[in-house]
Amino acid sequence: MKRRTILVGLSLCLAGCAATVGGVAQPVDPTRVAGLEISDGPSGLKPGVLDAGLPVDGGDGGEIDRLAANAVADVQRYWREHLPATFDREFRPLATLVSYDSARRGREICGASTAGLVNAFYCSGQDVVAWDRGELLPMLNDSIGPAAVMAVLAHEIGHAVQLRLGLPAASPSIVKEQ
Ligand SMILES: [Zn+2]
Repeated sequence: MKRRTILVGLSLCLAGCAATVGGVAQPVDPTRVAGLEISDGPSGLKPGVLDAGLPVDGGDGGEIDRLAANAVADVQRYWREHLPATFDREFRPLATLVSYDSARRGREICGASTAGLVNAFYCSGQDVVAWDRGELLPMLNDSIGPAAVMAVLAHEIGHAVQLRLGLPAASPSIVKEQ
């Protein structure tokens, strides 16, 4: 009975909302991820490992850019290995990586200025992953740890993978963002 009430609510919303996706929310246990206990083991760059040496446009050569570029290299290595095995396609690396400082004068990426843009994002028009080294990545690194920086960049690269696999650009956000 309760479920029927929810469905009625959804159908009413479909008429009035721009993009509603049906489904039933599931409770989330914040102490577990994918069924595993959350722990705070080692995170970040492994000592003694050489940098991947990916070119970063606009980078300042600092530790955050170093962490970000190496994270991108690791994630791209993952997709180079797993995309062919899983989807029978070769993985094409990102065309460009951009580091910017949201507190400084902006630069244009895909028609938008990075001034004040505390974010990390993927832009399909230029096949670029960009990150704010000024505020966002240091905040993630300091408050959660280096793994948070890697998770955010892995997410953005996930959008590039979606594009390479042909996910329509007009797909609902809830599909693209998960
Ligand atoms: Zn996203």
